[in-house]
Amino acid sequence: MKKPFVIAIDGASSTGKSTLAKALAQALGFVYVDSGAMYRGVTLFAQQHGWLSPTHFDTETLITHLDDIQLTFNNNNLLLNGIDVSTEIRTMTVSNGVSQVAAVSAIRSFLVAQQRAIGAQHNVVMDGRDIGTVVFPNADVKLFLTADANIRAQRRYDELKGTDPSVTLDAILENITQRDHLDSTRADSPLVQATDAIAINAAEFSITTLQTHVLALVKKRMGI
Ligand code: C5P
Repeated sequence: MKKPFVIAIDGASSTGKSTLAKALAQALGFVYVDSGAMYRGVTLFAQQHGWLSPTHFDTETLITHLDDIQLTFNNNNLLLNGIDVSTEIRTMTVSNGVSQVAAVSAIRSFLVAQQRAIGAQHNVVMDGRDIGTVVFPNADVKLFLTADANIRAQRRYDELKGTDPSVTLDAILENITQRDHLDSTRADSPLVQATDAIAINAAEFSITTLQTHVLALVKKRMGI
């Protein structure tokens, strides 16, 4: 079998990674993997069991129960042990806990193994923080998206206000700033641009322009 083609899209929260990744996967017939959703799924599991709250994180108990967590995707929706949790994992409760969970090496190894297994079987577009640096250092195309935090917060607010009317722009901006800090300063797999990644300031382009340009670039690399 020909080696699968891997597109890695990294960057901070709400830079438009997943919109771009989904569009590429759709246009190319690739599998899309939202690695952030996987970290969110583990976070939700910990919160459901009372192992993670704003004041307490029982890391050891969560680590010993990792094998009880089954994460699968169904049409880009995340299933946690067979239940669709795609809306729950986007709540502020999960957003406020996820970076703490994602800093734990045992949890990262658990999820990275699953991400690599998918990429070994299928052509994939995977988005996250460490896809081009750690998960697939030999990815065929690596992109690193950036955008101003205020623009990102507004974007996330527009997405969330429909499902959660209690959410405020200020709370989102605070969450994004906090996660940027935790994600880029953690010891294991911090958010950094891979040296061979193409950096794109997503705020400078319309979604359509960005998708068209990246698709052309990918097709050129694929030789199609
Ligand atoms: O992409 P999203 O914002 O949903 O990711 C949620 C969180 O999951 C991030 O803030 C980060 O802490 C963690 N994450 C990670 N590595 C990835 C993807 C996400 O640490 N590859």
